[in-house]
Amino acid sequence: MVSRLKVYNTLSREKEIFTPISSPYVGMYVCGPTVYGDAHLGHARAAITFDIIYRFLQHLGYKVRYVRNITDVGHLENDADEGEDKIGKKAKLEKLEPMEVVQYFTNRYHRVMEKLNVKSPSIEPSASGHILEQIKMTEEIIKNGFAYVTRGSVYFDVNKYAASNDYGKLSGRVLDDLVAGSRELDGQKEKKNSLDFALWKKASPEHIMRWDSPWGEGFPGWHLECSAMSAKYLGKTFDIHGGGMDLMFPHHECEIAQAKASNKTAPAKYWLHNNMITINGQKMGKSLGNFITMDELFSGKHELLERAYSPMTIRFFILQAHYRSTLDFSNEALLAANKGYKKIANGIKIIKQLTHNGTAEKDNKLIEEINKLCDICYNGLLDDFNTAITIADLFNLLKKINSFYTRQLNIDLLDEETFLKMKNTFLILTEEVLGLSNENIARPESFIDGLLLIYKAAKDNKEYDKVDQIRSFFKNEGLVIKDMKHGIDWAYEE
Ligand code: ZN
Repeated sequence: MVSRLKVYNTLSREKEIFTPISSPYVGMYVCGPTVYGDAHLGHARAAITFDIIYRFLQHLGYKVRYVRNITDVGHLENDADEGEDKIGKKAKLEKLEPMEVVQYFTNRYHRVMEKLNVKSPSIEPSASGHILEQIKMTEEIIKNGFAYVTRGSVYFDVNKYAASNDYGKLSGRVLDDLVAGSRELDGQKEKKNSLDFALWKKASPEHIMRWDSPWGEGFPGWHLECSAMSAKYLGKTFDIHGGGMDLMFPHHECEIAQAKASNKTAPAKYWLHNNMITINGQKMGKSLGNFITMDELFSGKHELLERAYSPMTIRFFILQAHYRSTLDFSNEALLAANKGYKKIANGIKIIKQLTHNGTAEKDNKLIEEINKLCDICYNGLLDDFNTAITIADLFNLLKKINSFYTRQLNIDLLDEETFLKMKNTFLILTEEVLGLSNENIARPESFIDGLLLIYKAAKDNKEYDKVDQIRSFFKNEGLVIKDMKHGIDWAYEE
């Protein structure tokens, strides 16, 4: 397969022609959520970014194995090597088993993803299900001389590794600066160097989540799970590793070090990172009071929200920006996204209604123009998955589709091939690749209530033909009208 796709590789800081290690197979690993709270806009942006990449690669004909993990152990407060486990802490607070917390928030995460029309990954492994693999990898790193054991914990030796490897290449950080900037924290006495990170931590007596290991009872370090699980399901070297930009350092930098120290090879060929979402120009954070969960967005229940926003509006809002640009949330931006989404939804509706008759005389200039507009729609996606450009180009194509719909232009001036190309380009890109599914914008109940008002007026005016017509319409839908002394209502036909 000859690739026309260009991807921006964080590792090389360049756009590269996408050439998988063993085409048409593509292995993609994306860091998933730590399931101790509800999904927010940051989660949605990461999930939608890699959903588009997954969908578009499949559309281009690649066979993609997409692995997105669930972090359910080892992620400590402040992303540090000390402190409480985020899930353990929540479990203690709520008096639950840690796995109850994990199950509860995993289910909720899945429901939000389904609403956003994000496809499930091919494999969704969890850290706690891969303790053996993580212990094995730690042993391998110790054996190769890049880790040391102190008081029941195992630390990665960054200085030793950096002597023969480029630590900091992915995130663009310089080791000396990192050393100077690191703080002296509790427990760092165990480390040879403040930059060393935990592969395995000894569990203190009050720590709930713990497993046996060659070094005593403990739990894996946060960075280790992704190295162990990506190698298990995608091999020691695979094509794409992705995640949010905030994970670049230390998480991804440490993943590269772990993989090289154990498997003696770089884990991923392409590293892709999505940018962050700001809220009214500010960073999103719990302490800033601008932390909005997806459920709050769907219901409109948050003091920063002027109204509720539908999942497809939010999906469209995220796709309107290229994944590497920052994206600022505001009510105005979401209202504009809502309009944009509805335009696309109307386009999907009308193009499904358009039919073509092959007998009329053809207009070659128009045929050429439509073909060109269709081809252009792919350029954005082929240039590092730039959905913003593709959406703008789809709107240009939609202008023409609207002219055919309103009969300003005669659709029969197109040849059959061009007509089908226009229809497929629009439908495949909007529905399959961008995943803008048709959302029920109207509420069916309000239509039923409206029809009942017409029924009542017809009855009062003794227009019995109309009354029968409405009654039979309800019957066909499996509903009955109930005429009662105190008023009219409807019910399901029993
Ligand atoms: Zn990860």
